[in-house]
Amino acid sequence: MSDIIQLLPDHVANQIAAGEVVQRPASVVKELLENAIDAGSTNIKLLLKDAGKTLIQVIDNGKGMSTTDARMSFERHATSKIQKAEDLFNLNTKGFRGEALASIAAIAHVELKTKQDSEELGTCIKIEGSKIVSQDFISTSKGTSIAVKNLFYNIPARRNFLKSDTVETRHIIDEFQRVALAHPNIAFLMHHNDNEVYHLKSSNLRKRIVSVFGTKMNEKLVPINEQTDIVGIEGFVAKPEFSKRKRGEQFFFVNDRFIKSSYLNHAVVNAFDGLLEQGSHPSYFLYLTVPANTIDINIHPTKTEIKFDNEKALYAMLRATVKHSLGQYNVAPVLDFNR
Ligand code: ADP
Ligand code: MG
Repeated sequence: MSDIIQLLPDHVANQIAAGEVVQRPASVVKELLENAIDAGSTNIKLLLKDAGKTLIQVIDNGKGMSTTDARMSFERHATSKIQKAEDLFNLNTKGFRGEALASIAAIAHVELKTKQDSEELGTCIKIEGSKIVSQDFISTSKGTSIAVKNLFYNIPARRNFLKSDTVETRHIIDEFQRVALAHPNIAFLMHHNDNEVYHLKSSNLRKRIVSVFGTKMNEKLVPINEQTDIVGIEGFVAKPEFSKRKRGEQFFFVNDRFIKSSYLNHAVVNAFDGLLEQGSHPSYFLYLTVPANTIDINIHPTKTEIKFDNEKALYAMLRATVKHSLGQYNVAPVLDFNR
C-alpha cells in the first residue's frame, strides 16, 4: 500500500480559488471597491491602465490596516468581517469570505499601502504569486491603496482568454456603476489611462443616477417608496415610454448590494402590465432593505445571487408597489430633485 494524497501548498490552493473569484479585471475591481466600502471610506478612487490588464488600483480613505493585519489580509480565509458560522446569516458587510486578496495576490503583482489614523507610519507590502517580496514602513495618508499589476501574469491561458480592452472596460464600468449606485453618499472617481471616466460627488440617489446615466435620465424617473414589515422598497423606475429594446439599466440592490434576480425582474415587468411595447424592457433602480437574517448571500462566490426567505411575499409587494407608483405618476408627475 502506498499513500498518495497530499495537501496542496497554499499558493496552489490560492490559485485554484482565484479561478472562481477572479474571472477578469472587472472581478478585481468589484472586490477592491467592496473592501474600500467595508472599510468605511467616504472617497474612493479607481485607476486603470489598459482595461485593468496592466493596472487596477483602488485608493480609499477608510480605516486602513495595522502592519500585522496588512500581512494577514493576503491569507486565505482571513477576514475581519465574520467570526463564527452564525454571522453568515446576519451580514452587514460586502465581504466575509476572506478570499479576495489571497486570490488576487496568487495571480498578479500586488502592492498594498495602508495606514490607520492612529499611526504615524503606514505599511507597504509587495506580493507576487502569493509570496511577500518586500515589507516596509512608509509615510502615507490614512486609508488603503491596493495596486494590482499584470493580472494573470503566471496563468498565460487566462491572460490570453481576456477579451479586447473595449469589452473588458465595459465589464469594469458595469461593476463600477453597480457599486456607485449602491452608495450614492460615497464620492467615486474613475480614471482609465489617465483620462477621467467618472467623477461622482457624494449625493443622493436621484442625483447619483443622473450623474451616472446623464441628465436626460432625470425626467424619466418615477419614485418608488414603500415600507412594510418584511421589506423596504425605495428607488425609481423609468416611465414606460422610456423602456428599451436592450436590457441593461435594470438594477436591484438588496441591503446595498447589487444582485441579479430574474424572479424579481419578472415582478417589475409584470407591474408595467400593458404599458410596455412588445419586447422592450423597463429601466429601474430598486433598493430593497430586508432584515439581514432573512437572506442567504453565501450561495455563490461572486455574491450576485441571493436567497430570500420570503420570496413570494417580496414578489407580490414589489409588483404592487411599482404598479401603484406608475399609477400615481399618471395623474401627478413628481419631479422633486431633492429626494
Ligand atoms: P473579506 O473582504 O471577505 O474579508 P478580503 O480578502 O477581501 O476578504 O480582505 C481581507 C481582509 O483585509 C478584510 O477582512 C479586511 O480586514 C482587510 N482589508 C481589505 N481591504 C481593505 C481596505 N481597503 N481597507 C481596510 N482593510 C481592508
Ligand atoms: Mg473583500
